[in-house]
Amino acid sequence: MSELAYPYEAPASQALFDRAAAVTPGGVNSPVRAFRAVGGTPRFMVSGTGPYLTDADGREYVDLVCSWGPMILGHSHPEVIAAVQDAVSRGTSFGTPGEGEVALAEEMTARVAPLEQVRLVSSGTEATMSAIRLARGFTRRTKVIKFAGCYHGHVDSLLAAAGSGVATFALPDTPGVTGAQAGDTIVLPYNDLDAVREAFRAHPGEVACVITEASPGNMGVVPPADGFNQGLKDLCTENGALYVSDEVMTGFRTSRAGWFGVDGVVPDLMTFGKVMGGGFPAAAFGGRADVMAHLAPAGPVYQAGTLSGNPVATAAGLAQLRLLDDAAYAKVDAVSKEIQGLVTGALSKEGVAHRVQTASNMFSVFFTDRPVRNYEDAKTQESFRFTAFFHSLLADGVYLPPSSFESWFVSTAHDERAVQRIADALPAAARAAAEATA
Ligand code: PLP
Repeated sequence: MSELAYPYEAPASQALFDRAAAVTPGGVNSPVRAFRAVGGTPRFMVSGTGPYLTDADGREYVDLVCSWGPMILGHSHPEVIAAVQDAVSRGTSFGTPGEGEVALAEEMTARVAPLEQVRLVSSGTEATMSAIRLARGFTRRTKVIKFAGCYHGHVDSLLAAAGSGVATFALPDTPGVTGAQAGDTIVLPYNDLDAVREAFRAHPGEVACVITEASPGNMGVVPPADGFNQGLKDLCTENGALYVSDEVMTGFRTSRAGWFGVDGVVPDLMTFGKVMGGGFPAAAFGGRADVMAHLAPAGPVYQAGTLSGNPVATAAGLAQLRLLDDAAYAKVDAVSKEIQGLVTGALSKEGVAHRVQTASNMFSVFFTDRPVRNYEDAKTQESFRFTAFFHSLLADGVYLPPSSFESWFVSTAHDERAVQRIADALPAAARAAAEATA
């Protein structure tokens, strides 16, 4: 990239990035934050309020990442902050059961009918890892079917053909994952029920579960085709396998009851994270009570965590969930639609081939004019146009996910002023995308 590609500077962020690189691999604690897909200086944020983030150089951005999903009420929501302060004032971790975790589990199970029982953990990765272990322990089978482009965290056996950062970095395989760990994973193209049918035929009695993002957002937003999730559930039932719906990203975001609230397909197990933690490390897996009964100490499948059900994290998550009523979802859906319209209007005006794909209020922009139904389709987009688009918006104070393989996220806090700032920045960004060359 020439210097002209970044017509502004972020000296304080750059200085922090240099310091970080000396003590942390690549200068970040999660790869996509390093801006490798788009180049330039990652912004080190110092504060967030409502729809805005402020970086170390004192520049303010309209945030369309929302911490990769969790901040559905915007940053520093006063009621969430108050709940956290109240919890913190009583102590930060007890290593015992506490009422907060019961209340959070009750709120979650009340909202999501198939979630009969739930176990709290600290990250989405932990949730999917534990759900897979439980599925294997319950069925006494070993193989797991996953889909190319679906990301389920950095669980060894699930990193094959994952989306998100793995897509961004084009790592087909990750060193450190053994053949044995990957060998029990069957990776299939997304939205292809025939491939799933064939895999069950080829491995009779061996498949413990099918895990899928309820509606994928980690190869960009690629919703399930009509009947795909139900078809997966039916094939699982016919073949004695469990249907595991990963709602870490969609859970409590795409509706009150997450993606289950949109398509109504009943999973055997589900995983959650992001929104349910209110910006803190809280996640969960759960589902059928008879399956969950196999989990220690009720059953033989071991799973545990020092900070599981942490009182501060559960207080934040519960406060956030209780604020997420129908009006809140209507607001997030409306602002998402408005921004989608602005983006497509600006890009169309400049003649830039693109598709905005949506899953309720989650959306992303693919720089291609063909429908994107799976990971192979997603990879054919003109990502160089996204890079130009991204940097123009960043320069004008709009913060997008720094990769074209990610969902964009909005919040109830994205008000008229924030949307206007996006609208003002879009024409130049669309021009930059139009003029970009590979
Ligand atoms: N599952 C899905 C669908 C995700 O989007 C993610 C993270 O983005 C994960 C699992 C992993 O969650 P975490 O990053 O909390 O480990």
